[in-house]
Amino acid sequence: MLLSLEKRKFVVQQHKATNEHWDLRLQMGKKMKSWAIPKGPSTDPAVKRLAIKMPDHELSYKDFEGVIDKGLYGAGKVMVWDNGKYKLLEGSIKKGVLKFELDGKKLKGRWALVKTKRGWLLIKERDGFSNKKDIVKMKSKSVKSGKTIDKITKNDGFITKSKDLGF
Ligand code: MN
Repeated sequence: MLLSLEKRKFVVQQHKATNEHWDLRLQMGKKMKSWAIPKGPSTDPAVKRLAIKMPDHELSYKDFEGVIDKGLYGAGKVMVWDNGKYKLLEGSIKKGVLKFELDGKKLKGRWALVKTKRGWLLIKERDGFSNKKDIVKMKSKSVKSGKTIDKITKNDGFITKSKDLGF
């Protein structure tokens, strides 16, 4: 089987820290390549969402939902907004273009991450899963717990040490 057709895990974690954003993480080997998307993903191919490249995260962090303690990097709430598998279709981070197909509970179909002078952009490609609905607003609950981010508490998970932040 071609490596590019291998299915790997992905997650989108809504993260309500100093600035709310959605962290897209794509498994590559034992790490999760990560981008912070301030406005979250859009299923509208006409909308290009800024995606800020972040440090690689540990694979185990993809299931974290809960609270990051005050004083730690990213202090605030984290919620598993979507997860599933993805297929790398073409490109690489080094080339500045990644095309992939998501098979998540919310996000599906073909997507692209494209590096520009102003940073990476996340773009939905036109297919049977593209539409103009605001998926971030319409599907606001965790795929792990069914909770909205405001309902997440320390009982869901609590990180108190930097070494548990996953990067
Ligand atoms: Mn984050």
